[in-house]
Formats: sequence, structure tokens, C-alpha cells
Amino acid sequence: MMEDFAAFDLLSEAVVVVGRDGTVVHANDRATSLLGLPRAAVGKAFDELVPLVDESGAPLEGEAARLAGGRLRLAERLVHLLLPDGRRRPLALTGRPFAGGLVLSFRNAGRRERLDRARSDLVATVSHEIRSPLTSVKGFTRTMLLRWERFSDDQKRTMLATINEDADRVTRLLTELLDVSRIDAGRVQLRRQLVDVAGVVYAIADKVGHRPEGAGRDLLVDVDRDLPPVLADPDKLEQMVTNLVENALKYAPESPVQVRVAAEDERMHLSVTDRGPGIAPDQRRRIFEKFGRGRGERRTGTGLGLFITRGLAEAHGGTVWCDSTPGEGSTFHLVLPLGPTQRVVPAAS
Ligand code: ADP
Repeated sequence: MMEDFAAFDLLSEAVVVVGRDGTVVHANDRATSLLGLPRAAVGKAFDELVPLVDESGAPLEGEAARLAGGRLRLAERLVHLLLPDGRRRPLALTGRPFAGGLVLSFRNAGRRERLDRARSDLVATVSHEIRSPLTSVKGFTRTMLLRWERFSDDQKRTMLATINEDADRVTRLLTELLDVSRIDAGRVQLRRQLVDVAGVVYAIADKVGHRPEGAGRDLLVDVDRDLPPVLADPDKLEQMVTNLVENALKYAPESPVQVRVAAEDERMHLSVTDRGPGIAPDQRRRIFEKFGRGRGERRTGTGLGLFITRGLAEAHGGTVWCDSTPGEGSTFHLVLPLGPTQRVVPAAS
């Protein structure tokens, strides 16, 4: 039996084969070191050798035997190994049934490993986000160079407009990545001044309202006339609000969008409400994470916008979050501290 599993010893992953009765049939070298197994592990109960707990600390006893008896493939899940000194080692566990039981594979899910994975996810996403506009730029320029005379001026203009947009997309991505690295390093630089939020919000509404894709759309703005100025970096404030408004226009294309701004409890409260598809409860935190996009999201985007918005809001001592009822719409809230309390009083005439 042992020899059947000798190939597992070549793997860099930790693999343990558990029989239907829950005893260890084979453990490769990597598993022996990662799980701290004794040399003579074969034939002993897996649960006794490898004390696993779930995220809440509840023991997963009998789990291996139960799974080994079943036919289900176990999707990757995070478990913790209880070490002899009481500490816990996070592990990513996957399982696959085979005729005689179950093949369990473990991956170290500690901080460094998570960082390594995050880094390779970043490279994959960034390469994709750069490659797809470049492919389009290359395709259109080549077509125009080869068949210049065959196209009308209008057709050429359309192709140039696409190239122009694709170039903007790459520039935007690079700008976003720089913002992300500043946020990650805690080095967001704010040029704070007293800002008239109404001016910023109306300017954004004007800009996005005039874009071709925003034409004819309802973008309603309601700013409390008594709102005192906010102590903020005006460019960053514009960036945060633009992101929320553009998202509403993008993800809720058929719905009116309402921006409201008011002072509440010494803070500026800005909300952007749409009546679009909404966001499922289990996605509401994820979308604020780096590269966090809604499940199966197909529209263009990098998933960095809300991460940056949150980073900028926090750098201002504020917060951002979202409420949503799936099927009915979403409201994104941005709360920032107000400036010094004195109101701007119109000069006496
Ligand atoms: P991006 O738009 O580039 O994907 P964001 O960080 O701005 O990145 O948004 C993250 C995800 O949140 C989006 O991919 C989308 O799935 C979801 N989302 C954001 N705003 C809305 C909204 N108003 N309605 C529904 N989903 C939204």
C-alpha cells in the first residue's frame, strides 16, 4: 500500500492519506514537517496526531474520518493546527476522496504565504489589465496603418477614440497602483484646506453628467446649504466622490443616482444612492478590499477604486461603507470630520 503513495513524496505540498477508518495511511515528508507528525504515524488516528480547530477554535475531531467516508471533494478551507506550545498555525486544507479514503493536502496559510499569494494575484491582475487595452491599441493601429484608405473619416475617428480610451485606462491603472502602494505604506500625503464640498460635488456632477454614457441620466445632487467647510485635501475628496458616483453610474446603469451631503454629529455625511442591482451581504466588505470585485463582475474595472476610497477616507480620519438591498439598490456612505466649527458667515454688507 505504502508504495502506491511514494509519488506524493515528490510533491512540495504537504499530503496525508487517511483511510476510511480515520487512520493515517501515508504522509509525505513535507506533511511530516508542516504538521509535526511522528516518524511512525502510519496506522495511528489522524485526529489524535493532527489536532485541527476551525476559525472559532472549535475542534474538527472526527472530520477526517467523516470526510474519508464520503465521496465529496473538499473545497479549500482555512483550518488551524494546535501546536504543542498552544499557538495555532493557519493552514489551507483541501481534500479529495479516493477508493480507500481521503487524500488531504495542506498549505501553510501564514502571513508570508498570504503575502506571496497576494503578490502573484497582483501580477496576474495587473498583467491582464495592461494587456487587454494594449491588445486593442495594437489591433486598431495596425488595422489603420494597413488599410488607411479603406476607412472613412468617421471610422478612423471611432478607432482613434478607442485607442485614446485604452491609453487612459492604462494610465488610470498605473495611477491607482501608485495610490495603492502609498496607502499600503501608510504614506498618503494630504494637502488639507477648508473645502466647500458643494462646489466639489456640483463640479463632479457636471463632469460625469456630460459624458456621453451619462447623457440623459438622472444625477440628483442635494447639498445641505448650512454645511460648513470640510478640512480635507480637495483633490482626494474629488477622487473619493468621483469613484462613488462613477460606480453608481456604471453598476446601476438604468437607475437615477442621488448624492446627498449634510452635517451630522460634527461630521460631513455624503451618500451616493442608486436603485441598481445592489450588493450581496457577503460581498459588502470584500468590495473594499484590494482587487475586490463583485461575484462574476464583467464590467471593466480593476477592483482598486473602493480600496483607494477607503484608504483616502481613513487618512482623513473618516470612513466609508455601503448599505444595500440586493435587487433594490445600494447606498455608499462617506463620512469625514468637519473643519473647525466656526461657520462661514457671509460678510455684512
Ligand atoms: P471596479 O469598479 O474597478 O471593479 P471598485 O473598487 O470601485 O472597483 O468596486 C469594486 C466592486 O464593487 C465592483 O467591481 C462592483 O462589483 C461593486 N460595486 C461598486 N459600486 C457598486 C454599485 N453602486 N452597485 C453595485 N455594485 C457595485
